[in-house]
Amino acid sequence: MTVQVQKLKMLINGEWLESSTGATTSIVDPSNNEPVADVPRGSKQEARAAVEAAHEALASPEWRDMDSAKRGRILTKLSTLVRENMDEMARLETLSQGKTLRESKGDVAWAARAFEYFAGLADKIEGETIPVPPKRLDYTLKEPLGVTVHIVPWNYPIAIAARSWAPALAAGNTVVVKPSETTPLTALKLGELSVKAGVPKGVVNVVTGSGAEVGSALVSDRKVDGIIFTGSSETGRQVMEAAAKNVTHVLLELGGKNPHIVFPDADLGRAVRYVKDGIFTNAGQMCWAGSRAFIHESVYDGFVKDLVAKTKTMRLGPGMEESSEMGPVVSRSRQETILGYVKDGIQEGAKLMCGGNQPAEPRLRSGNFVEPTIFEEVTGEMKIGCEEIFGPVLSITKFRTTDEVVSMANETEYGLYAGVWTKDLKTAHDMASRLQAGVVTINEFLITFPSTPFGGYKESGIGHENGIETLRHYTRTKNVSVNLN
Ligand code: NAD
Repeated sequence: MTVQVQKLKMLINGEWLESSTGATTSIVDPSNNEPVADVPRGSKQEARAAVEAAHEALASPEWRDMDSAKRGRILTKLSTLVRENMDEMARLETLSQGKTLRESKGDVAWAARAFEYFAGLADKIEGETIPVPPKRLDYTLKEPLGVTVHIVPWNYPIAIAARSWAPALAAGNTVVVKPSETTPLTALKLGELSVKAGVPKGVVNVVTGSGAEVGSALVSDRKVDGIIFTGSSETGRQVMEAAAKNVTHVLLELGGKNPHIVFPDADLGRAVRYVKDGIFTNAGQMCWAGSRAFIHESVYDGFVKDLVAKTKTMRLGPGMEESSEMGPVVSRSRQETILGYVKDGIQEGAKLMCGGNQPAEPRLRSGNFVEPTIFEEVTGEMKIGCEEIFGPVLSITKFRTTDEVVSMANETEYGLYAGVWTKDLKTAHDMASRLQAGVVTINEFLITFPSTPFGGYKESGIGHENGIETLRHYTRTKNVSVNLN
C-alpha cells in the first residue's frame, strides 16, 4: 500500500505553525519503517510560545468567564467530532504506532467517551461550606489550576492525551500537549477537532518535538501550574526534579510489572484467554500489561500447555490488515531492546516456551515484529522477572500458597495493576486488599473506564487519572473566611 506522506504543523495560540528552526521529524509506519508523515520538530522557542499562549488564554474573559455549562457543551461537541472522525483517527494511530486497527478504534472510542464523561462534570465542580464558630461564614472555591502541561507517551497516544485533556478543560484550565515524538498524529488531529468544537484561541496548544528539548522546556517553565506526565519511571523522576525547582504540581503515571494470579478454582478457559490478551494486546507495550503470571501448582501444567498452544497460533502482521492479531512494536530500537531481554532470560535460566525471535516470514522482516514470547520458571531476581520489558514477553511462575504468591506479586518496585482469577469471594477480596497495586481486577483484565480512578503505587506513579477523583489535580481549593460580626 502506498501512503501519501502528510506534512503537518503544530497548534500554538490558534495558529498552525512550523518549527522556528525549520526542522522536521519523519514519522514512520512500524510495520515496514516507511515514512507516513513529516511533523515539525519544535524547539524551546515553541515550547515557550505555547505556554505564553496558554497563560494569556487563561486570563482572557472568553475562557475565564465562560459558563461552565458551555465548557461542557464544547467538550460534548468534541466527543461527537472524535466519534465522527473515528476511522481516520484509528488509521492515523495504526499507521504511526503499529497496533491493529481494531485496537486503535477501541482507543478512539475510549477517548470520545472520556470527553463525554468530563463534559458532564464541567458544571458540577463544587466547593463547600464549612461549619465554623458563630457569626462567621467559611466556604471553599474550586478554581482551575492554571496552565497544564500534558506529556504523552507513544503506546496509547490518543487515549492518554484525551484522559488528561478532557478533565483539564472541564475544570477551566488551558493546556499545552506534547505528544511523543514517534506518534504525534492523533494529538494533532485532536487539536484540530478542539478548535472546530469551539475551544477559544490559546486554550489548547499541541507542540511537537523531542522530550529532551520541548518536553524538558515545558516542565521547567515557571508559568506552568501543573504537569501531567505519562511515561517511564526513569523520565518521571526527571520531570519531578524539574517540577520541584518551581514547586509545580505533578501527576505521574509511570511503568508497571503487573501480575496475574490464577487460583485453581478459577474459570481456567477464561483466565487463559485474558492472560494471553493481557500481554499480547498492543504487542505488550502497555503500562498495565500482565507481564507476570503466577499459576497455582495444581492447575499449572494444563494451564501453561493451553496458553502456549493458543499463543503459537497468533497471527502477526501489519495493524492495517484485518487478519492481524498482533502488530509490530513501535520502533527498531524497541525491537532490539525486547530481543535483548529474551537473551537475558535464556542466560539467567528461564525456560523459553515459545517465541523469542523476529518472525521468519520474509514479508515481516522490514517491520519491527517480535513473536509473542512466553518464559516459565522465572524468578523475581531475573531481569525478565522484575524489569518492565514493554513488549510481548510473558514470565510464568508456579505458586503453592496465598502468602507466597502475595509476597512474589508485591516484590517489584512497581504497583500499577493486578489481576486475580478465582470464583471464591473471600479469596478475591482478600487479594484485593493485600496486593500493592492501584487497580486490582477480579476475573477481568485490561479494563478501565473514564469514570474509574487509575494510578500507581510505589514507582508506578503519583495521583490518579480518570474518575471524579482526578479533578483534584486540575483544580485549586481556595478557602474564604468571612467575619459577619
Ligand atoms: P518516555 O518516558 O520515554 O517518554 C514519555 C514522554 O516523555 C514522551 O512524550 C517524551 O518525549 C517525553 N520526555 C522524554 N524525556 C523528557 C524530559 N526530560 N522532560 C519532559 N518530557 C520528556 O516513555 P515512553 O517510552 O514514551 O512510554 C513508555 C512508558 O510509559 C512505559 O514505562 C509505560 O509503562 C509508561 N506508561 C504508563 C502509563 C500509566 O498510565 N501509568 C500509561 C502508558 C505508558
